[in-house]
Order: sequence, then structure tokens, then C-alpha cells
Amino acid sequence: MLIIDNLHAEVDGKPILKGLSLTVNAGEVHAIMGPNGAGKSTLSYVLAGRDGYAVTGGSVTFRGEDLLAKEPHERAAAGLFLGLQYPVEIPGVSNLLFLRTALNAQRTLRGEPEVSGAEFMKLAKAAAEKLGLPFDMMKRAVNQGFSGGEKKRNEMVQMHVLKPWLAVLDETDSGLDIDALRVVSEGINAMRSPDHATLLITHYQRLLDYVVPDHIHVLMDGRIVHSGGADLAHKLEAEGYSAIAA
Ligand code: ADP
Ligand code: MG
Ligand code: MG
Repeated sequence: MLIIDNLHAEVDGKPILKGLSLTVNAGEVHAIMGPNGAGKSTLSYVLAGRDGYAVTGGSVTFRGEDLLAKEPHERAAAGLFLGLQYPVEIPGVSNLLFLRTALNAQRTLRGEPEVSGAEFMKLAKAAAEKLGLPFDMMKRAVNQGFSGGEKKRNEMVQMHVLKPWLAVLDETDSGLDIDALRVVSEGINAMRSPDHATLLITHYQRLLDYVVPDHIHVLMDGRIVHSGGADLAHKLEAEGYSAIAA
């Protein structure tokens, strides 16, 4: 699914990723944990192709193709989804229009027919219901006036409608109360399948009680310094990142 090999990236001339390597197979859920400033969000932005994040070395192969050679919208159409740590508000653009436009743009790039209005409404309603987002929020401007938890649920609604091969979810658990955490976790678990993969970025162990990862990696100072199984989360919580990295 994803092979990251010795990735180096910088922002404003400052090296942030310093030789990061990671392989994610189809069917797997990987968690990336690490302290603030380790480069977790930077990794997600580099994968998505955000402006200003310059790759200075290494490679990323996504489903057999050179991911870094693609434009951001081509990466999305190829099946990469990024759930943002801080979802943006888009005043004046309804959530439904936004999502339908994104879905059909991706389908067009893949050479697939667009979905009709009726088909789309069915998909959107099912996703909103599954993620516990009241459907009238789908008619409002994207994320505008949404609470932190509603924004995160909305990210998951988008994921369920777009059905990516790989979802990179950056701190999807932040700002969620315990009920929302459960719903969002069920949303993530519902995407589990033998041909889909998830990269969960989090710095709390809490989410990983609900979405049990196959592998956990510790990201510090721009590289993976330690990897383990699901039990590593509790060890990190108890002992701290520095002790594990030492
Ligand atoms: P994390 O998500 O792990 O908390 P980030 O990827 O957000 O870490 O940030 C990693 C490092 O990159 C931090 O030291 C941060 O200050 C720096 N950084 C991130 N974005 C920028 C930017 N736009 N300009 C300069 N430095 C940045
Ligand atoms: Mg941070
Ligand atoms: Mg971050």
C-alpha cells in the first residue's frame, strides 16, 4: 500500500523529516505516536502534497506508483485521504456540495462515471448516520461553526463517502468527548478491510483502546525511532517517549 523510504523534508529551509522509513501493507492499521513537534503533521502534509513542504530526499510509493510525482488532487484521486488535525472552515460552500464535487472530481480523474444527485444523497446520508452527524449539518457551510468534535466527525463522513485506499488521520481523536471518540473509532474500524489501510497519527494512547493498531511507531525528531505492537501504546503512556527512544 505505502512504502516510505528514507524520506527527508523541510519547511522554510528547516529540516523536519530526517530519514523516515515506514511500510504499510493493505489491511493494516498503523499508529504513529510521538511528542509535539516530532514531525507527525509534517509527514501527513508531505504525503498529501501540501505547498511549502519540500521533499529533499527519499521516496514514497503508493500502490506501486511514485506518490511524490503526483499533484495533491491526483493523490486524492489515487485513493489517499488526509484527515486534518485542524479541519478548515469553508464559508459559503455547503458540506454536501463540497463533498459531491470532491467525489465526482476524483471519479472523473479515475475515468469513472460521476455519481448522480440521488446516488450521492444516499451515500452522504448513510455516512452521516453512521458517524452520528445530524444530516442538517451536511447542508451547512463546511465546518463553519462546527464544534471540534463535529469537525472530526465530518472528516470521517468525508472518508466514508470518498472510500480511500489509505486514510492518514492526523489527531482525529483531539477535541472528542468520550461518546464522540467511540463513534469516530467505530467509523475508523468500519473502514477496515483486507484492501484498505489506515495511518493513525495520535499522541494519546486513548484512541488506540478503540482502534487497535497492528503496529505502533514512535516518531521523534523526524524519524521512526521505535516500532512495536499494540501493547507499545500503554508502555509509552507509562514510561514516556524519551525512555522508549533511549
Ligand atoms: P507534530 O505534528 O508532531 O506536533 P509538526 O509536524 O506540526 O509536529 O511540526 C514539526 C516541526 O516543524 C516543529 O518543530 C514545528 O515548529 C516545525 N514546523 C511545522 N510547520 C512549520 C512551518 N510552517 N514553518 C516552520 N516550522 C514549521
Ligand atoms: Mg502537534
Ligand atoms: Mg501535529
